[in-house]
Amino acid sequence: MAGMTVSTPSNHYDAIVVGLGAVGAAALYQLAQRGGKRSTRVLGIDRFAPPHDRGSSHGESRITRLAIGEGDAYVPLVQRSHVIWRELEARTGRSIMTRTGGLILAPRDGATDHHGKPDFVRRTIASAERFGIEHQVLDAAGIRTRFPQFHLQGNEIGYFEPEFGFVRPEQAIAAQLEVARASGAEVHEGEPVIALEGGRGGGTGDQPVKVRTATATYTADRVVIAAGAWLPEFLGQAARDAWHREFEVYRQVMYWFDASEAAGDFTAGRMPIFIWMYGDGQEDYMYGFPSANAARPALKVATEQYTRTTSPEALVREVDTAEIKAMYQSRIAGRFPKIGGRAIDARACMYTVTRDRHFVIDTLPDAPRVLVVSACSGHGFKHSAGLGEAIAQRMLGESPTADLRAFAHRPASKDNQ
Ligand SMILES: Cc1cc2nc3c(=O)[nH]c(=O)nc-3n(C[C@H](O)[C@H](O)[C@H](O)COP(=O)(O)OP(=O)(O)OC[C@H]3O[C@@H](n4cnc5c(N)ncnc54)[C@H](O)[C@@H]3O)c2cc1C
Repeated sequence: MAGMTVSTPSNHYDAIVVGLGAVGAAALYQLAQRGGKRSTRVLGIDRFAPPHDRGSSHGESRITRLAIGEGDAYVPLVQRSHVIWRELEARTGRSIMTRTGGLILAPRDGATDHHGKPDFVRRTIASAERFGIEHQVLDAAGIRTRFPQFHLQGNEIGYFEPEFGFVRPEQAIAAQLEVARASGAEVHEGEPVIALEGGRGGGTGDQPVKVRTATATYTADRVVIAAGAWLPEFLGQAARDAWHREFEVYRQVMYWFDASEAAGDFTAGRMPIFIWMYGDGQEDYMYGFPSANAARPALKVATEQYTRTTSPEALVREVDTAEIKAMYQSRIAGRFPKIGGRAIDARACMYTVTRDRHFVIDTLPDAPRVLVVSACSGHGFKHSAGLGEAIAQRMLGESPTADLRAFAHRPASKDNQ
């Protein structure tokens, strides 16, 4: 019948993943790996063709580190991510993760906040000690000796971790989708999911979830929603209210300043990744990377802003010259004396942020077969491969390598713990 879509047995899947960015690609890969053994049918659907630059997983590099000042529950996730990315590199021949060493810097006497956590450097040191992660604590003189690229004030404390590195987000996503497809998963690109229906039944009942796109209707026993910045819109008002208007989307900008005049100083090996809190304000902060591309030496830097919300539709993707100039003058000049004000690239991206800056991974209140995964708040990439594994294990009833209970939806009164 014209205009109608029908769910036939061939449209039924054991699991459907909606959104194939950092988290969804990882979940699909892990589900497909397990699919062969269980004859599991798995489908991943994305509105674009991942990896793409429309969401939160583009721009050449993401920081990864093992001691996690955001909280202990994240450490097993990132530890698994590192193992999984190395396995994927061996399997696909892609370069996904580069170890560079990295430095977290803050005023020694401040209690500077990062990702909603006060005293972030000391929290990171404590995390490293609890988990036995190799690290060194440096004073300003020690930092200057090892890393003369930084112009310090003299009152800094530095946490240095040799396992810091950067992940290439586009490569990580492409590798996981490539192996997922090769392992039997179906991937539908350019097909926005427009509605979910059903899914109540506790996982054993007779109500599979209906997943409607513009061109088809599928059914699935389990659905993962990993829609990133589209999540608030996707959940709709009712779920957002039930979840206390949990998610806000913020525009963030990444800048690449030309480093060709001092290229040797800014290559991986000489230059660490850095997270630098130089004042007490939430935005007195930047982070950056050594050159990821030898043909185009650059210092990649970015900040975080939490004052103006946006949405995927409203996001201003262009970065104008006034923004570049302001970034250079307020943060780079004076802190990296060998870097001039010429930007060779600048790109906007989105953070999807919860109020306490922690992830939310939970089933929807009225649909226990639908798992929402929001690896967000600006620190999700490093955990995404480990998260994908834990999500697949949870969906298939296996015992998890990482415990996701800390990320269950939290009532408002428990925020900011
Ligand atoms: C500038 C910037 C810097 C960052 N730096 C770091 C860092 O250094 N370290 C770190 O660990 N993390 C970092 N992050 C955070 C990290 O990148 C994100 O947490 C992570 O990429 C989010 O992945 P995601 O899968 O949730 O979202 P995305 O990767 O955006 O994926 C969501 C996907 O869902 C799809 N989708 C949406 N709606 C639908 C629909 N209705 N139907 C079908 N498909 C749909 C989209 O097309 C998209 O592909 C940074 C983020 C930004 C923006």
